[in-house]
Amino acid sequence: MKRLTAFTVLSWLVLHITGAGATVRSVAGGQEPSPERTQPPSADGKLNIIAFGAHPDDCDQRAGGIAAKYAALGHRVRFVAVTNGDAGHQTEGGGALAARRRGEAREAGRRIGIEYIVLDNHDGELLPSLNAREQIIRQVRQWKADLVLAPRPNDYHPDHRYTGALVQDAAYMVVVPNVAPDTPALRKNPVFMYFQDGFQKPNAFSPDIAVSIDDVIERKIDMMDAHVSQMYEWLPWVAGTLDKVPKDAAARRRWLRETRADAPTSAVRAALVKWYGAERGNAVRHAEAFEICEYGTRPDETTIRKLFPFLP
Ligand SMILES: [Zn+2]
Repeated sequence: MKRLTAFTVLSWLVLHITGAGATVRSVAGGQEPSPERTQPPSADGKLNIIAFGAHPDDCDQRAGGIAAKYAALGHRVRFVAVTNGDAGHQTEGGGALAARRRGEAREAGRRIGIEYIVLDNHDGELLPSLNAREQIIRQVRQWKADLVLAPRPNDYHPDHRYTGALVQDAAYMVVVPNVAPDTPALRKNPVFMYFQDGFQKPNAFSPDIAVSIDDVIERKIDMMDAHVSQMYEWLPWVAGTLDKVPKDAAARRRWLRETRADAPTSAVRAALVKWYGAERGNAVRHAEAFEICEYGTRPDETTIRKLFPFLP
């Protein structure tokens, strides 16, 4: 059902009349349009971080913890779901599911104080097309990103794989003015990094940076808890554990905490020790780790410390 309220129309007019550079995209299935803010320049000393996941909930699991830490320090974080998630359910689908997941993503972002954008590409059908590449380029440019996070292009799910490939394909083009010329090119290429994953072929994830998220693990779980259609319905159904999900909201959130707050792998533990020292690094219970992409700007240690201001 299309919901175009007077408030929505007024917001659209205000955004355009004030020339704030904001745009409103119409979305598939007739959902409510979502405003896309143009960010202030990063000259205010705050970082602009953007993360791409294939589906609404992917970024949360890989970078929800550091996103909460950035937000707490006043830095700007945008999570982008490259597909609208309209295939991710056992009994729902299409525009109604996309609208539900868009709402869940907004709520997840609200809970930790970040922006969450859902792009209008169908779930399960993402391809490394020129059109999709330009969508990524525009997002990175609009956000004036200092750091771009994305999956590696080795993954069982084609949407994950192609999200990784699309971001790699954008990793130089964001500075080329003749590409997607409707959105001004960046003068400085951001740093690109990969999320952690467990795939071994052709090569395993190699954690260059590992961050303790012990102080924000409950906020990360709160964020994931907002994706009700995924955490408590679709993912347990796929895993054959739907009967294990508690019905009560508080009980299922505890269940999520017990089943989703993983301990660091041995490789991530080694990276924690490198950055935090042996005593602190070995005491970390929950972490998020990132591998530097060879494309984009290659950061030295000073740049890494600037991009991850919560490292000791
Ligand atoms: Zn996914």
